[in-house]
Amino acid sequence: MAEFSIIRDYCQGIGPQHHSTRIDIGDDAAVFEPPNDQDIAISTDTMVEGVHFLEGTPASHLAHKILSVNCSDMAAMGALPKYATMALTIPSVNTEWLAEFSSGLKAQAEHYQVQLIGGDTTNGNLTLSCTIIGLLDKSKVLSRRNAKLGDDVYVSGCVGDAALGLANLQGKIALEKSLETQVQMAHYRPQARVELGLGLLNIANACIDVSDGLVADLTHICHQSQLAMEINVDAIPVSAAYKSVFDLNSKQQMDFALYGGDDYELAFTVKPERRGEVKDLSKALGLPLSKIGSVTRSTSSSVCLRQGDNVLPAAKNLGFEHFTD
Ligand code: ADP
Ligand code: MG
Repeated sequence: MAEFSIIRDYCQGIGPQHHSTRIDIGDDAAVFEPPNDQDIAISTDTMVEGVHFLEGTPASHLAHKILSVNCSDMAAMGALPKYATMALTIPSVNTEWLAEFSSGLKAQAEHYQVQLIGGDTTNGNLTLSCTIIGLLDKSKVLSRRNAKLGDDVYVSGCVGDAALGLANLQGKIALEKSLETQVQMAHYRPQARVELGLGLLNIANACIDVSDGLVADLTHICHQSQLAMEINVDAIPVSAAYKSVFDLNSKQQMDFALYGGDDYELAFTVKPERRGEVKDLSKALGLPLSKIGSVTRSTSSSVCLRQGDNVLPAAKNLGFEHFTD
């Protein structure tokens, strides 16, 4: 099958046709007209088989995840995702796989209202690389670098399920069937918190999406803002499935929630005077927003984990690093 027929059959007509798009798939580049009063946010995320996902992961899950992780980066900036390009590297032309990938992508592109406006198709080890383009009101942005001393620290939803799901898929942790599906889906099919990001634009000082693990990502806010945090481990939200897996006295109980990645929740800091606004936003979105700590003056370890009266030792390996020996 020629490259052009792959593009015609599986890459065209994905997502809504935005009015601002002047040229999309089929030319040497896509062209769109940004609104006068908006800035453009742009980000790329790549997923490599065997590195970011397990061999044999169903194509529909991959389509879901590649778009969600990219939209999650927009959410973390308070931007509205609008366009995407997809560089698709495939080891062979498997039309069943392509059809499943394409319809998964279509569903997610509709969900996020993102139009696929271009990409590239090549032969090689299975790799998905998506560039997402979002829009942002001119004077506004969320970033990692604006946390303020005394801010409350929050995280949305629950953390830890995605890492637990991965451990289960790898055969490291056995679970009951009903729990298995829930945590595996948390790993395979995360949701980007786009509406939360938009809502936080007027409320939060700093924000990040939880992709590398809660502690690692909070540490990024600390470094960028040149401050530290105290986190109350008992306040970190975990799902009922997560709780039921771990013996409450187990030392490793919170490890997946603290250091596991791939949850794509938002972690953010807010001035304490604005707690009411966070509550209202949580209610409006039907999404728990849990206060887990506060921003403190910088010390040697950026994120101090407290549990009751104890300070937990800092973990050596924070988050996922690609280039460690
Ligand atoms: P060129 O040779 O000029 O780089 P290509 O032949 O690679 O162009 O691509 C033709 C058109 O198809 C371009 O508009 C490109 O953006 C689009 N395209 C190629 N691969 C994909 C893909 N995987 N997803 C979406 N669009 C794609
Ligand atoms: Mg060209």
